[in-house]
Amino acid sequence: MRIKRLKLTGFKSFVEPAELRIEPGLTGVVGPNGCGKSNLLEAIRWVMGESSPKSMRSGGMEDVIFAGTTTRPPRDFAEVVLLAEAAGLHGGDNDSELEVVRRIERGAGSAYRVNGRDVRAKDVALVFADAATGAHSPALVSQGKIAAVIAAKPAERRMMLEEAAGIAGLHVRRKDAEQK
Ligand code: ATP
Ligand code: MG
Repeated sequence: MRIKRLKLTGFKSFVEPAELRIEPGLTGVVGPNGCGKSNLLEAIRWVMGESSPKSMRSGGMEDVIFAGTTTRPPRDFAEVVLLAEAAGLHGGDNDSELEVVRRIERGAGSAYRVNGRDVRAKDVALVFADAATGAHSPALVSQGKIAAVIAAKPAERRMMLEEAAGIAGLHVRRKDAEQK
């Protein structure tokens, strides 16, 4: 899976709709302190289904919505669109595109869409687990993660290895099956 485009609206400091194209190869994000570099990476994690406000540096999930400044009113929703090349993904044709949308409204929680269809958070987790990526995958290394790997308990470390091996999707399905 390769992320090709990101669209952010009302997400943290990205108050006006912002669209970013990510070209093949290495991409660096540079800018002064506080300009939104970390917010950008958090947007990727968020649209992939991140459910912990703490790992978004927020008290509650609604805190990702633009909170307003002295000159601009707050927004009432935040939306992130991720467009990816989904070649080889389960259920998709080769070189098909994958569009994932997550939107949160004040008082209404999060809603997800995958290729235009309303889906559950779990379905989004499955899409990314099968692609061996996602909000908690070792492909996204946030600050402090290296230390966390070293300090992890064996069971936690096993989870990280399973995600790296691309079999995390099996666990999501097993949990789902056990609940039925
Ligand atoms: P550094 O170089 O210091 O790591 P950075 O480029 O990573 O900086 P971020 O942490 O991404 O910067 O951005 C922080 C900015 O985002 C702060 O100015 C903060 O006020 C703003 N911000 C975060 N959440 C919101 C929100 N919900 N509404 C408005 N602004 C927000
Ligand atoms: Mg930062």
